[in-house]
Amino acid sequence: MTDPRDDLGPERVGHATRGLTWEEPLLFERSVRGRAGYSLPDLDVPDADPADAFAGDALRDDLPGLPELSEVDVVRHFTRLSTWNAAVDLGLYPLGSCTMKYNPKVNEALARLPGFASAHPLQPAAEAQGFLELAWRLERALAEVSGMDRVTLQPAAGAQGELAGIMMIRAYHEHRGEHRRVVLVPDSAHGTNPASAALNDYRVVSIPSGEDGILHPEAVAQAMTDEVAALMITNPNTLGLFETHIAELCEIVHARGGLVYGDGANLNALLGIARPGDLGIDVMHFNLHKTFSTPHGGGGPGSGPVGVKNLLAPYLPVPMIHRREGSEGVGFSLDYEFPLSIGRLHANFGNVGMFVRAWAYFRSLGPEGLRRCAEMAVLNANYVLAKLRGTWHVPIDRPVMHECVVSDQALAATGVTTLDVAKRLIDYGYHPPTVYFPLIVHGALMIEPTESEPKEGLDRFIAALSAIVTEAHSEPERVRTAPHRTRHGRLDETRAARRPVLRWQPDPPPS
Ligand SMILES: *Cc1c(COP(=O)(O)O)cnc(C)c1O
Repeated sequence: MTDPRDDLGPERVGHATRGLTWEEPLLFERSVRGRAGYSLPDLDVPDADPADAFAGDALRDDLPGLPELSEVDVVRHFTRLSTWNAAVDLGLYPLGSCTMKYNPKVNEALARLPGFASAHPLQPAAEAQGFLELAWRLERALAEVSGMDRVTLQPAAGAQGELAGIMMIRAYHEHRGEHRRVVLVPDSAHGTNPASAALNDYRVVSIPSGEDGILHPEAVAQAMTDEVAALMITNPNTLGLFETHIAELCEIVHARGGLVYGDGANLNALLGIARPGDLGIDVMHFNLHKTFSTPHGGGGPGSGPVGVKNLLAPYLPVPMIHRREGSEGVGFSLDYEFPLSIGRLHANFGNVGMFVRAWAYFRSLGPEGLRRCAEMAVLNANYVLAKLRGTWHVPIDRPVMHECVVSDQALAATGVTTLDVAKRLIDYGYHPPTVYFPLIVHGALMIEPTESEPKEGLDRFIAALSAIVTEAHSEPERVRTAPHRTRHGRLDETRAARRPVLRWQPDPPPS
């Protein structure tokens, strides 16, 4: 590993700072008066005065202040900016709970097939049979892998999937004449869980996790009343631990007429091994951009399909895709005959490009490959945990599923905190893990290596974390003031959040 304390290189000359690392000004700052990105032949028609064609107030008096640039200026600008991204294609991206796995390029090739990429969203179903078949098959595959009966692909993210799921739960109870008011959410849950419940007008009751980091039947039984509409549960949970009492928890909730929502963000740990539907979950979302390798965050839109057991099927968002087999063969149509539906959640079909990528992933891996994903993801997380144990404090030391959580407790004497470690990791070339989550672990660092990372990559990352521990003891200031190798050092995060500067203010034009 190169020592990140190496001399940072030559002084800034022109726009290059460190060798071929580009510092890039705004397009407006690059602008050169009169420069253009096009060249047109001389006019071969009489020159006209726009004022002859337009009424006076349709013409502006001044120039709009747009940057004036050549084609190569623009191409270089955006290409340089593209080199600033931390990306799964550049290296390990251990952001816990986010499953930043590699996105195979075959998915991209298929999503770009003109029949999918250029289809009009309002094309009649009769002309979109290929796409509808793909979407229908993806629904069936998701139902199969999760043990659900029906799936809608509409929601655009996990959070919207949760919203849809809780809306269906509410519609179910209300249709039965029950006005339940409470949703139970474990204290380790992702913030979107209580938010989805609250948006549906439910009161959220937090259930404490046990000392061992998982939910215990007594805690749920104690909170379970006839007022409770649902328990929302994440399995494996945000500590990376399998909820071993899941079947019993579901029984307790069902016995009092409640339903169980499964947050499927961590499905990567279970693929091909266990199915939430078989464990008692009634409704769950999938994050195609996590488990099923579609691009994530800045790389693309999300997709959060929702699977339900048959008891919730009447409330699914419309339209659903209907497959019929008749004398003329198989055909697909859009089914709006759901009188109890919660309605439509997304224009047209949802984020269709994600469906193609997810289907490509299903088909290229097959059942064996999917299971191997889960096995490798679990192996990698346990490998990281085993190597960190000893130098890092492990708050709940048990075998984990797809991710592990350590904390800054062992560094307390040095004054170095989780935030400092996260910033210092950037100097070593790593996107930081998820920090300060789950909330129940003080100073948490949540690491999810995913199945994509080879052993050498894990070893390098572990070495970086160990080096930072050594530094924290020998040179704590170095860690506390990181990052040192980025374009900008430590930002004032409070000010950045409270007083963001979002608009570029042009200098007044030269007179
Ligand atoms: C990512 C995540 C969500 C929310 O999913 P989005 O697709 O980001 O909206 C919910 N729960 C957990 C545990 C997650 O990790």
